[in-house]
Amino acid sequence: MKEIGFIGLGIMGKPMAKNLLKAGYRVYTYDVNYAEIDKLVEAGGIGCSSIEEVAVSCSTIVTMLPNSPQVKEVILGEGGIAQYAAKGTLIIDMSSIAPDASKEISAAIAPKGIRLIDAPVSGGEPKAVDGTLAIMAGGSPEDFQEAQPVFEVLGSSAVLVGDVGSGNTCKLANQIIVAGNIAVLSEAMMLAKKAGTDPEKVFHAISRGLAGSTVMNAKAPMMLAGNYKPGFKIDLHIKDLNNALETGYKSGAPLLLSAQIMQMLQTLHQDGEGASDHSALMKYYEKIAGTTLKEE
Ligand code: NAD
Repeated sequence: MKEIGFIGLGIMGKPMAKNLLKAGYRVYTYDVNYAEIDKLVEAGGIGCSSIEEVAVSCSTIVTMLPNSPQVKEVILGEGGIAQYAAKGTLIIDMSSIAPDASKEISAAIAPKGIRLIDAPVSGGEPKAVDGTLAIMAGGSPEDFQEAQPVFEVLGSSAVLVGDVGSGNTCKLANQIIVAGNIAVLSEAMMLAKKAGTDPEKVFHAISRGLAGSTVMNAKAPMMLAGNYKPGFKIDLHIKDLNNALETGYKSGAPLLLSAQIMQMLQTLHQDGEGASDHSALMKYYEKIAGTTLKEE
């Protein structure tokens, strides 16, 4: 049985850590929220009261944290992984963070002989539970190879996109496409409603044509039902588009549409919708169109 560390046991991390347990790993778990550790201990995991305990017990450690500052703190901060991990440790950071943060962390730990692979995921909670996430990785081919057994448990596909940071650049591209899809879907559904055509019939008529998409199939039914239970929260999408805009600024990539959708998401956040699913972009259109998609 092989030891693996898992830090960050939220919506995504918890089911991922459970899948590693089911696959026969001895999983050393840590989260600042101790209640989440207890849930993993109930499932057979080993609860740790500090990052140090994880780092001294495991030579492979997965992190699944909200954003760059938390990943930096857990790896580079006082009492963090880098302070205690043995030479040769591989950190697999599966959080969605800024590509430059991945590069910065990797460069900081390299002199200690600790390696980082950035491996963010797409698929959300259902695919985290099923172990069918799409994994996009950045790192050396050797580190990618070493992480393969873990990726096989957690995902249905894992692609090495390039050097460290490339996994997160890929994830930003993914998040731009998802946000754009949801925004234009909202616009189109509202056009149907305002023009007096049943949006539900429009969805059924077009979903198998060129306009159809995985995003449309997942999000149109939620919009039509007015059900915005997350899923993927508006606030997390703001975080991703913020990282995308920052990366675009640094690299000179024009992100016209992302900037506009960011404003819509920020408006929704101000309206108290930060914890709603990102399909609540429909609510932005409802506000400016003066009507709801769903018949009242
Ligand atoms: P979450 O907020 O549910 O979980 C994050 C966990 O990290 C929490 O349990 C929190 O207590 C813990 N944490 C925060 N700071 C910590 C620290 N310093 N030390 C230890 N633990 C700490 O978030 P999530 O939905 O699981 O998302 C995690 C990452 O995965 C994010 O980067 C997100 O963008 C990405 N992601 C989420 C989804 C989704 O559908 N939720 C899909 C794909 C990718």
